[in-house]
Amino acid sequence: MTAAVSIQHLSKQYGAFIALNDFSLQIAAGEFIVLLGPSGCGKTTLLSMLGGFIEPSFGQIVIGGREMTHVPPAKRPTATLFQDYALFPHLRLIDNVAFGLRMRGMGRGERRQKALACLETVGLASEAQKKPHELSGGQRQRVALARALAVTPEVLLLDEPLGALDLKLRRQLQDELKSIQKQLGTTFIHVTHDQEEALAIADRIVLMNSGQIEDLGTPQQVYLNPRSRFSAGFMGEANFLPATVKAIHSDVIGVQTEQMALSLPIAAFKRITPAIGQPLSLCIRPEHFMRAEQRFSLGSALVQSCDFFANHWRCQVLYGGHRLKVYRPLEAPPKVGQMLDLSVPKECLVVLKDE
Ligand code: ATP
Repeated sequence: MTAAVSIQHLSKQYGAFIALNDFSLQIAAGEFIVLLGPSGCGKTTLLSMLGGFIEPSFGQIVIGGREMTHVPPAKRPTATLFQDYALFPHLRLIDNVAFGLRMRGMGRGERRQKALACLETVGLASEAQKKPHELSGGQRQRVALARALAVTPEVLLLDEPLGALDLKLRRQLQDELKSIQKQLGTTFIHVTHDQEEALAIADRIVLMNSGQIEDLGTPQQVYLNPRSRFSAGFMGEANFLPATVKAIHSDVIGVQTEQMALSLPIAAFKRITPAIGQPLSLCIRPEHFMRAEQRFSLGSALVQSCDFFANHWRCQVLYGGHRLKVYRPLEAPPKVGQMLDLSVPKECLVVLKDE
């Protein structure tokens, strides 16, 4: 069974320092939620409170309709997967996975069957008789996942579980985690500071900053329509151009950048309500300079550097007094010193508050 999680006004204070600040979030049953954010923003603190390892200063946690705020970890319908696999070195994999079931009083035959089924889920049933030291790092983390799943948690809490693995293995295990989560339908709450990981696996990303929610939505929403400059910059490369609102019409907003006057579609103003004289930031992702449809000219810029990035060229250009990052298609490598016409599809411009 899966569970909905309701977090209401949750806070954690250490003396005068607020690690989590009035945090509220509703999570649907079966959702894959990723808590993303820079080091120290409160991700682990939140996860530890959901697991019952840290007592909240204020607020409430409800899991599957049951009040859990002060319930000890072993009595919660949660299991936690940590970055360091914490397997018992002297136990075979099957006994490692069955350990929690033994603690819960399940009979030997039944727990071995369940442990084998969980090892099967993570693709390690054939290794069941091995010991942890005979495995690779990735395999050990799969065993730890099998062990966490064996107790059939309603919510699995994952604290940077792939953080210790090399990039290639991490990408592979991300795909596996996502497909196992969809297959089981268990609610996953996964902590990472890797935005590519968040984009790859989340149903919804919760971007955190200083103990609060900075942005929230599907990967597409958060990446393409960030709520703030912090969010745009954290989720990937972004350019910001200062501008001022000059005119407001029913379907377009006139803005003035340092370089030119632009008529922006009203759709670009999803995050703020325009007001005459208001200072703004125009957010443009570097890859949007590569898109062909309905282009919107921003004038030209001087190419200062151009580096090969496997599936595109990554250029630094000088646009007025601003240095921008611009991606160009492989078939059209710009030369350093040349002038490059910059244009983007209208729907890719996002107008943000000037912070
Ligand atoms: P990381 O990605 O580095 O693990 P995080 O987002 O998980 O960071 P937390 O571990 O939740 O961050 O910590 C949030 C803040 O709370 C940090 O500034 C940390 O120093 C502080 N903090 C955590 N535990 C304690 C504690 N026991 N006493 C005092 N401050 C603490």
